[in-house]
Amino acid sequence: MAQLQRIAISQNQLQDNRIVLAKEQHHYLARVLRLSDGDKFIAIDGMGKWWLVKLQAEFGEVLEALEVNTELKASISLLLALPKGNGFDDVVRVCTELGVDRIVPIISERTLLNPSSQKLDRWRRIAAEAAEQSERAFVPTIYESVTFNQGLSLFEAEHKYICEGRGDYPHLIECWRRVQVSSSHIRVVVAVGPEGGWSTRELEVAVDEGFEVVSLGKRILRAVTAPVVALSILAAELECS
Ligand code: SAM
Repeated sequence: MAQLQRIAISQNQLQDNRIVLAKEQHHYLARVLRLSDGDKFIAIDGMGKWWLVKLQAEFGEVLEALEVNTELKASISLLLALPKGNGFDDVVRVCTELGVDRIVPIISERTLLNPSSQKLDRWRRIAAEAAEQSERAFVPTIYESVTFNQGLSLFEAEHKYICEGRGDYPHLIECWRRVQVSSSHIRVVVAVGPEGGWSTRELEVAVDEGFEVVSLGKRILRAVTAPVVALSILAAELECS
């Protein structure tokens, strides 16, 4: 199926066995890609469902539901103190490719920015595009920004880690390898700090909330690199265990 074009649709576009294509989707399929009636493409709803579809005038006729098996066997939520500039765009894109489930921008003590609503829309678009490109079944949810304390208690999870570059903390991989990954879907939360790092108080509060403080190695990573490293470790461990 890899060679077929994928089109993201919203739930209300699927009516009975037909997909009502938006004007720009039809234009893209028929004019840009030059698909003709009868040519196939894939429609994805970003919520776990894919369909093989045949173009038929301005509609898509559903031929069959497809099985997608590209999701991690754990739900990973990232709490990310906002880095400066447009660094968050890259974090959203790459972490979506790596399999993240939810991303929450966090306003921490040393966060420099409070994001605008346009930024949030932009991140959601980036997540949708990256999910489509990386053949994810689900589009990760990008939350509105919350304070550090709100973020810590936002999700129920079996495993919660807060990354800290200084101090003698166990490596994330060591902590993870103590986890028995059962067949049931486990939930993990990972928190990464801003350029200025976490304050001592924030680390203490996180520990009180059940977070384990972990290292990602001996070098200090940029705020945009650390989440990618954490996600890569967890994704590789989950897929190879
Ligand atoms: N200004 C901080 C300092 O000098 O310690 C560095 C902050 S770092 C640029 C941004 C965030 O990335 C940190 O708060 C931490 O969450 C994460 N981070 C960076 N390097 C790390 C490492 N080696 N281990 C764990 N977390 C790391």
